[in-house]
Amino acid sequence: MEITGVAQIRRRINDLRNIQTQNGTVKDKSQNYAKLLRDYEIPEAFREKYILSRYRPRNLTVLESLRSLFSANNETVNFWSHFLSAVIIIARYYSVIWAHNPLADHFYFPLTCFTLGCCTVYTMSCVAHLFSSMTEREFHIGYYLDNAAISVYTFTAGEAFYFYCHPLGSGMLVYDWRELFLLLSALISFAATYSCCMSRHCWLDFRFMIRTGSYILAWAHNCSPYFVRQFFCSTDPICNEDSMPLFKGCFLSFATAALANVSRVPERFFPEKFDFIGQSHHVLHVMTTLGNHFAYSVFLSDLVARKEALTIEHVPSFPETIGLTLLVLAGNLAIVFWFSNSLRLSSSSKSDRPLRRPPIR
Ligand SMILES: [Zn+2]
Repeated sequence: MEITGVAQIRRRINDLRNIQTQNGTVKDKSQNYAKLLRDYEIPEAFREKYILSRYRPRNLTVLESLRSLFSANNETVNFWSHFLSAVIIIARYYSVIWAHNPLADHFYFPLTCFTLGCCTVYTMSCVAHLFSSMTEREFHIGYYLDNAAISVYTFTAGEAFYFYCHPLGSGMLVYDWRELFLLLSALISFAATYSCCMSRHCWLDFRFMIRTGSYILAWAHNCSPYFVRQFFCSTDPICNEDSMPLFKGCFLSFATAALANVSRVPERFFPEKFDFIGQSHHVLHVMTTLGNHFAYSVFLSDLVARKEALTIEHVPSFPETIGLTLLVLAGNLAIVFWFSNSLRLSSSSKSDRPLRRPPIR
C-alpha cells in the first residue's frame, strides 16, 4: 500500500526510534556489531525483500563493520564470496601474465583491463556490503560506488570483447571503427551509473526497470563484437568456433544470475531458511564470478586462435586500453562524487526522499 504524507512521517519517526532503542546502540555499545536483528527491528528502507533475520544493527562504526565480518549475519556471505572472487581472478591473471608480459606483448592489455574491471566490481561490492549498516549516507554512497564499479567493469568487458572477438572486415562502422565502439561503451557506462544512482531517489516506480535495462543495454553492446562475429563466420578469416561453448557458458551463467536476482528464489518460497547462506544474492555473486571466468576463457581462446589476423588490423596500445579504462573510472567516480554531494544537501534539507522505498541491490 502506498504510504504518504503524515503517515509516512510517523513511520519515519518510528523507524528512527527503532534505531535508538531496538538495535542496542544505546543500551549496550560493546559487541553491538554482533547483535542479530529481525527485519521489523530495523528501518524499512534497509530491509531486503524476503530476508527476515540476521540483520546487523544500524549506525555501526567502521571498526564494528569490520568486526561484523566474522559473525553470521546476512551480509557475511555477500562480502566473503566477492572477496574470494577477487583473489581467484588475480591468481588467474598472474598465471597468464607469468608467460605473457603485457608490456612486451600488448595484446594482453585488454585482458589486464578486464581483470581491473573485475577487481573493481568485487572490491566495491565488498565495500558496499561491509559498510551498509553504517549511517544512511554511507549506505547510499556504498551502493553508488557499487553501481559505478559495475559500469566500469562492463566497459572493460567491452574492451576485451572488441580487441579479441570483433568481426574482421564486417563492413559495419561500429566494429570497423574501434574509437566509435569504445566511445559508445564509455557513454553507456556513464549513463548506467547516472541512471542507477538516480533511481535510488527518483523514478522510484521504475527503479527495477531502469537498473535492469541499463545493465542489459551495457551487456548487449559490450558483448556484441562476439555474437555479431558469429553472423560473419563465413567471411571472417578466423571465426574460432572453439570459443562458442565458452561463450554459451558465460551467457548461461549471467542469465542464471539475472534470473535469481529478479525472481528472489529460493528465499521467496522459503523465507528465513536462506538468510545466512543460499539466498538469491549469493547465487548472483557466484554465477557472475563463474560467468567472468567463462569470459576470460573466451578471450584467451580467441587471442590464441585469432592473434595473427588481429595483428594485421591493429595492435592494442596502452592509451586506448588501460589509459581509457582509468579515464572511464575517473568519469564514473565523478558521477558518484556529484551524487554524494547532492545527498549531503538532501540530508541537510531534511528531505526524506532516500527512505521512501526499500533499496534493491
Ligand atoms: Zn552484492
